[in-house]
Amino acid sequence: MAKGVWVIAEQRDGSIRRVTLEAVSTGKRLADKLDEEMGVIILGSGIEGLADEMFHYGADKVYLIDDPSLKEYTPDGYVTPLFTLINENQPSIVLMGATSEGKDLTPRLSARLKTGLATDCIGLDIDDQARLEAIRPVYGAKAITKVIWPESRPQITTIRPNVMEIRSPELGQKGDVIKIKTTINPSDIRTTIKEVIKGASHRVDLTEARIIVSGGRGMKGAENFKILEELADVVGGAVGASRAAVDAGWKDHQLQIGQTGKTVGPDLYIACGISGAIQHLAGMSSSKYIVAINKDPEANIFKVADYGLVGDLFGIVPILTEEFKKIIET
Ligand SMILES: Cc1cc2nc3c(=O)[nH]c(=O)nc-3n(C[C@H](O)[C@H](O)[C@H](O)COP(=O)(O)OP(=O)(O)OC[C@H]3O[C@@H](n4cnc5c(N)ncnc54)[C@H](O)[C@@H]3O)c2cc1C
Repeated sequence: MAKGVWVIAEQRDGSIRRVTLEAVSTGKRLADKLDEEMGVIILGSGIEGLADEMFHYGADKVYLIDDPSLKEYTPDGYVTPLFTLINENQPSIVLMGATSEGKDLTPRLSARLKTGLATDCIGLDIDDQARLEAIRPVYGAKAITKVIWPESRPQITTIRPNVMEIRSPELGQKGDVIKIKTTINPSDIRTTIKEVIKGASHRVDLTEARIIVSGGRGMKGAENFKILEELADVVGGAVGASRAAVDAGWKDHQLQIGQTGKTVGPDLYIACGISGAIQHLAGMSSSKYIVAINKDPEANIFKVADYGLVGDLFGIVPILTEEFKKIIET
């Protein structure tokens, strides 16, 4: 019988990604409900030091697949050892972040395991028959569906980043580390990574940022984003954009926040010249504190804002930057 809740961890340059902490925290909650064990699989090269963090967030066991050929993500390299490990151990649930890697890997894995996959879930629970119940938006978030796996196992899902809560780490928590011997033949990996070109930005990744300064059509031009970048630099945040700003070519699509962009959940979201269309709110309304700057007092963004500043952003943003500078310098 399938048993256990497992998470496929994602690490980048030796650091566990935030969405993995969300998946592990969610996995722990599900495992407790089922009274089953919680396992985390980490793949990569030289990753042994990452196991402890997984125990702190609730893992009972950490499976390490450590091999030089897994240094960079490749679909062939990752899916084969994952398939073997999961097939041999038969966990009942497998979770991963709905990131680019998660979106690439989990369909391949579920096809090999001949089981179903629910992607981009915003809620997960256990029903009264001990089955996973996955909640996911469909038709551009116009409807919400509930997915169950009547028979096939494992029940595989990816979770939308920045939606599920991260539990408080328990630093004394320990567990078992299981090193998995891999039999990866480098010639079986059909993809060759020649070079990894990192984004030119020195700023934190949008989905991991704790502070985001975001601009919309009200910025009136690409060059004006400079004032948002100055504010972001002072507070150590990232810069985002509405679709209107992206469609105008002022910012890269990678920085778009919303239904067809990134979902973010920072501690502080500062929306500048953004009206607050439903599709934009879909990507940022779970932010802890929202500050809106807009010259239209009727703008929809004020309905979700904790603090609203009615006025010209070109006057307000530089003042905010100066005031934050003073606070940080003292
Ligand atoms: C299927 C679909 C998917 C979509 N996905 C997304 C998505 O992922 N993300 C997204 O953002 N949108 C998305 N949209 C688009 C969305 O509907 C809105 O058109 C878009 O969010 C509007 O962007 P905006 O708020 O920057 O622009 P606007 O709605 O034009 O708002 C500009 C705001 O700036 C204010 N302003 C202007 N000048 C100043 C100034 N000097 N100082 C202060 N305020 C000023 C104005 O009062 C106004 O409120 C989607 C739409 C569809 C149909």
